[in-house]
Amino acid sequence: MFEPTGSQRDAASTIFNLSDYRVIDALEVPGAARRVEVESTSPPGCPTCGVVSIRVHSRRRQRIRDVPVAGALEVIWCKRRWFCDEWRCGRGTFAESTLQVPPRARSTVRLRTQLVAAVIESGRAVSETARAHGVSWWMVQSAVTTAALMLATVGAVAVKNLGVDEHRYRSVRFYRTETGAWARYEPWMSTIVDVSTGQVLAVVDGRGSAGVGAWLAARPVEWLAQVEVVAIDPSAAFRKAIRTHLPCAAVSVDAFHLIQLSNQCLTAVRQRLVRDHKGRRGRLVDPAWANRRLLLRGADTLSPGGWARLEKVFRTDDPTDELGAAWGIKEQVRRLIKTSSLADAHEAKMLLGHYVQVANMPETDRLWNTICEWWTEIEVLIVTGVTNARTEAANTSIKNIKRTGRGFRNPDNYKARILLRSAAKRAA
Ligand SMILES: [Zn+2]
Repeated sequence: MFEPTGSQRDAASTIFNLSDYRVIDALEVPGAARRVEVESTSPPGCPTCGVVSIRVHSRRRQRIRDVPVAGALEVIWCKRRWFCDEWRCGRGTFAESTLQVPPRARSTVRLRTQLVAAVIESGRAVSETARAHGVSWWMVQSAVTTAALMLATVGAVAVKNLGVDEHRYRSVRFYRTETGAWARYEPWMSTIVDVSTGQVLAVVDGRGSAGVGAWLAARPVEWLAQVEVVAIDPSAAFRKAIRTHLPCAAVSVDAFHLIQLSNQCLTAVRQRLVRDHKGRRGRLVDPAWANRRLLLRGADTLSPGGWARLEKVFRTDDPTDELGAAWGIKEQVRRLIKTSSLADAHEAKMLLGHYVQVANMPETDRLWNTICEWWTEIEVLIVTGVTNARTEAANTSIKNIKRTGRGFRNPDNYKARILLRSAAKRAA
């Protein structure tokens, strides 16, 4: 009946390979999967006093879910209930449990580990993993949720540089208000990342100051005190939240977003020019439209052929020289961000201001205003070099999670997946 540990297992038990169990029977059920009956081999210690029992109270057969072994299997555990014969122990009887199947569990630990690995490490969808293992969607999701609860808390992670960025969680929703009108709802979420390691620390609802602010407010004072620099996109809402809850941290604006702003400025000028001069949108016959991507490219990365094409654009498709002026301003912004000292940055800014004044266009004026408004944060960027690149990388992997799942309905499941995937990547 009870086989002492260390004994050699029989062939069937070796093939089945579930620790603390031995196979007592294997049968083929017509029209169904194979059925394997197992019995526990671990010594039945009383959970209250620890004394090993030798007297069986009763037996019952319990179906447990397990990994497929050479195909789907139905596993039946012939489970015993034991008497506790220790006279000082108040417990009368107890049911067997093992490390693989803890009390009240109906699945093996090795199955749950495999499910979580399939979803988190291989990045498979929950529904697909459930189908492949012959279990329900709920079971896979509950294994993933349990794993997320086991993650180290944010308080345990020492963070020097934070990054905050937004992403869209779902597509835009429309709903009826009480008056019967349609209202638009944009489901945004903000990701908070440790930019030194790229680990996602939290995903909060919305992209305003409320979500990020509430998360920061919930952190202990000692944890907040170690944060030195926070990198954000030029978003006034994030800046407000950080100024309120992290008054001692410096805020750095992300270099990529500044370049994106200057590119958008150049594009706006190009589109306005073609509208004003030709009364239509750009077409392939317009050199400026045909080379619209080349215009956005950094001058330091242009090939000789690229330079030649660019010069042709300015010669043939820029009668007012406004496109060239916007291009020069975009390049000056790039030079400004690449400077390495505050003195150089200041000089580059003065030059930029001069260019903007001469250009005298609404688009470049707007860009200049943004740069002036964010100048303190740009200085922090130049001195510390802390950018949001890692946060953007995290957002890319979030997009992959979203695509694999074909969208998520439950925001909590979605957040658990993001945190686990990021922690698994970091561990790898
Ligand atoms: Zn006992």
